[in-house]
Amino acid sequence: MGIEDKVPQGVVLTTLEGLFGWMRQASFWPATFGLACCAIEMMTYGAPRFDAGRWGQEVFRASPRQADLMIISGRISQKMAPVLRQVYDQMPNPKWVMAMGVCASSGGMFNNYAIVQGGDHLVPVDIYVPGCPPRPDMLIDAMWKLKKGIVAKRPIGQNEIDAQDAAEAAALI
Ligand code: SF4
Repeated sequence: MGIEDKVPQGVVLTTLEGLFGWMRQASFWPATFGLACCAIEMMTYGAPRFDAGRWGQEVFRASPRQADLMIISGRISQKMAPVLRQVYDQMPNPKWVMAMGVCASSGGMFNNYAIVQGGDHLVPVDIYVPGCPPRPDMLIDAMWKLKKGIVAKRPIGQNEIDAQDAAEAAALI
């Protein structure tokens, strides 16, 4: 009996995905993308006082091609919606999205025609951070939760928005 008969099918690939997840969670490269007041707290998170670099999280990239994490930090105006979606589309897989603050999560107090009522109308959000604005330590906490999710249960590509969602997002824009 060969090894392939003894080892359950897919076990090697599953292990490899776990290994890749473990490596990826240790070095997020967020896209440089600030939308409103929450972005100030996001910048503070990367600055020396909170020093996200202690966990390899502070390397913000000016090009979406080099980023694997989008932090939606602020309310999304209707005019900014197609830009946000384009930045997301330009990021290579696998990639993750964090909605930082109530505005990015649900529109917050801006319940009006000019503001998209949550980032998940445009892109698949992996984690929501409450607050107005969330403090930098809440961002650090959310990062750790995201890291654990990636290692524990997120197979590669699972967070991809499907074709129907993409069509709905395009219609909204
Ligand atoms: Fe500004 Fe508060 Fe909205 Fe963040 S959640 S963008 S701090 S109003």
